[in-house]
Amino acid sequence: MVTTRSYRKACNFVSRKIFETKMLKQRPIHDLYYHELRSAFGLKSQMAQSVIKTVIARYKSAKSNGHDWSLIRFQNPEYDLVWNRDYSLVQDTFSVNTIDGRIKCSYETKGTEHFFVDNWKFGTAKVVFQHKKWFLHIPMTKAFSELQDEDVSQVVGIDLGLNFLATTYDSQGKTLFYNGKSFKHKRAKYKALRKQLQQKQTASARRRLQSIGSRENRWMMDINHRITKALVNQYGDHTLFVLEDLQGVRHATEKVKVCNRYVSVSWAFYQFRRMLEYKARMNRQKVMVVNPKYTSQTCPNCGHVEKSNRDKKKHLFCCKNCHYRSNDDRIGAMNLQRLGIEYIVEVTTGA
Ligand SMILES: [Zn+2]
Repeated sequence: MVTTRSYRKACNFVSRKIFETKMLKQRPIHDLYYHELRSAFGLKSQMAQSVIKTVIARYKSAKSNGHDWSLIRFQNPEYDLVWNRDYSLVQDTFSVNTIDGRIKCSYETKGTEHFFVDNWKFGTAKVVFQHKKWFLHIPMTKAFSELQDEDVSQVVGIDLGLNFLATTYDSQGKTLFYNGKSFKHKRAKYKALRKQLQQKQTASARRRLQSIGSRENRWMMDINHRITKALVNQYGDHTLFVLEDLQGVRHATEKVKVCNRYVSVSWAFYQFRRMLEYKARMNRQKVMVVNPKYTSQTCPNCGHVEKSNRDKKKHLFCCKNCHYRSNDDRIGAMNLQRLGIEYIVEVTTGA
């Protein structure tokens, strides 16, 4: 595609000028090189401006990321398009600006229908070349009003663990278990396979190790997506979810006996939290994170705190004071739910 090639060449031209002059202001760069961009690279006015903006943005982001001042090269064909200027939606096709004028591109909405209604905004798109095909990458944004504490009408404690991936306890006293048995089993299989390959030390074993690692990550991500989606759908808007702080979870998992340990547990929990946070935000729900201290040792019935209240091996909680008994993951979720209620009462009554 001629447009992206010219665009890339023009980006490299401007990049060299910026690298040499260390100038990051749009106006002087525009005054100096705009005409050359138009005549030597055959760019339309908007494209020439877009090239200048793109290159400046790349230098600025490199700078803010703490990189040394070095020449930025644009190696892959690319082209940035501003919404309703360089590309727009006309009836059922995208109209995209190129050197040879506007071209029409049809698109598939399957799985993305909601972006085309519902107040979503189209951002600056990128034309990219991948797997021998051209794609238009469009970032979508939408403003969501945040759920206020005084509007919370449901509080759900979520205990994350290995036996049950997630155990919830809500304001109606209902407990839900998101089962992790098959999960634990598959996780162990992956682990055994990894260990085998690690001992081999051959190039092909290393390659397989890598591909298994990424397959395992995708699988884990899929599970996190499914559970977080189920949770936000299960509870309506105005829900506050309460989770344990992950620093504590990581700490706890390090102490778990060897056969139960799984290395990336803290990473998986962190991913779970981020997914739940953004999905909750889109549903007028929110997530709060609390210190996990004592959440597994406190009796939700009488408030008695004692380490031996919990029998980890039997997954049983039995209060030494009032003899209240229950599944230990459920107790965790109950205590998290209570902390959420206490928080809401405190902020709404000023108590
Ligand atoms: Zn008790």
